[in-house]
Order: sequence, then C-alpha cells, then structure tokens
Amino acid sequence: MTRELIYSGKAKDIFATEDENVIIAQYKDQATAFNGVKKEQIAGKGQLNNQISSLIFEKLNAAGIATHFIEKISETEQLNKKVTIIPLEVVLRNYTAGSFSKRFGVEEGIKLDDPIVEFYYKNDDLDDPFINDEHVKFLGAANDEDISYIKAETRRINDLLSDWFQQIGLKLIDFKLEFGFDKDGKIILADEFSPDNCRLWDAQGHHMDKDVFRRGLGELTDVYKVVLERLKGIE
Ligand code: UDP
Repeated sequence: MTRELIYSGKAKDIFATEDENVIIAQYKDQATAFNGVKKEQIAGKGQLNNQISSLIFEKLNAAGIATHFIEKISETEQLNKKVTIIPLEVVLRNYTAGSFSKRFGVEEGIKLDDPIVEFYYKNDDLDDPFINDEHVKFLGAANDEDISYIKAETRRINDLLSDWFQQIGLKLIDFKLEFGFDKDGKIILADEFSPDNCRLWDAQGHHMDKDVFRRGLGELTDVYKVVLERLKGIE
C-alpha cells in the first residue's frame, strides 16, 4: 500500500490514513540540533522515541489529559488524531538550563521557586523567537482563553511528568510541548514527549536527554535506552 506523505519533519514523517481525522506518525532515525545545523542519522533512535513517547502519552491519556495519541502500531509508528498545530513551542522550566541560563546569565541546575512557562514562535526561518502572550495574540496563534488553557494544562502535565520521572530517579529540568486544535476545535496535546524535547538529569547530574547529542557527551541511544527501561518499570 502506498501511503500519502502529508508532512515531513526533522524527527517524524506524517502519513494520511483512510480516516481523515487520523494520521500515522513515523519516527525517524535522525537527530538534529541548533535548528537543523547539527544533523546525524542514529540507528535505533526512531523506535526509542516512539516507544518512550507512546508510553508517556498513554499515561497522560489515562490521567485525563486530552492528547492526540491513539495507539502505537509498530516499533516506529503511532496513530494520532489529526490536529491543526498551534505554531507555539511551549516550554516549561523547573530548573535553569539551556537558553534560559544563557539569556539571564545564570548557572544551570538552579531550582525555580515556581515553574516558568515560556512561548517560542515555531518558525524555522526566524529561528523560533522567544515571544510573550501579546505576541501570541498578534500572530493570531491563540486567543486569551486558549493561552490560559495551554498554560494551565502545561503545568498540570508538568506535575504528572515530574512525579513519574522522580519515581525513576530522574529530575525533569525542562521540556517543550506543542498543542493543536482537533476536529472539534478543542485544544489537545500533540507532537511527542521524549528525551529529544526535555532535559532529564540523573542523581549524579548526568544528562539523560538530547544534550548528549547537542553537547557531544556520548551515545544518544545508550541514554535513551536507560530512560525507556526505567519508564517501563513504573507501569
Ligand atoms: N526544545 C525543543 N525544541 C526546540 C527548542 C527547545 O524540544 O526547538 C526543548 C529542549 O530540549 C529543552 C527545552 O525545550 O528541554 C528548553 O530548551 P532551551 O530553550 O533551553 O533551548 P536549547 O538550550 O535546547 O537550545
């Protein structure tokens, strides 16, 4: 059967199905960083991300979070509800790291008294600029009510995720989410949740996420395997 490719991203290809409201996401063996400037094929990465993200999204669905995830259908593929992606990267930070540390000149790993939610405009040509709520409205990406919902939902997701990762000895430093409108216009969590789009530090402060690739600290698949095996333990 030939499938209609409807979108090809850096980490996933998206295919149409017979149901116009359902798509197949196929995870690729590709790692990118710095807006695609660093790029490598990494055998086994696609299936690790698919397994990790499927496991997390199943748990989020079970906890009552509205998501696009339907089911994992193969090692590298999952069925998702089709959404219109809201062009925002929603970042939540529990600890300082990455661009936050650079922007404010603070060391990495300082616990924030209250988690901070940030928006970036998802636009590769513009390098995903940091924006505020008023820019979100100017861009027509979301209205006030949507923005409040997205922020509250992101904090709710953080409470769940931080607890799960804490149970397996990992600190959830920060993460990025994407939301979309489903066929009824409801905002649901979309994209993926994997060590590609979060930072996880173990008890010794080792990076258990894509910083291993970004910063050249070792084999990405070795650490992703550890994250997956530990996550299976909390089921
Ligand atoms: N992130 C992401 N995609 C991006 C930018 C950031 O998934 O295009 C994630 C990143 O993995 C981290 C969090 O969002 O968990 C915060 O990233 P940050 O702003 O610190 O940027 P970075 O230092 O990764 O460039």
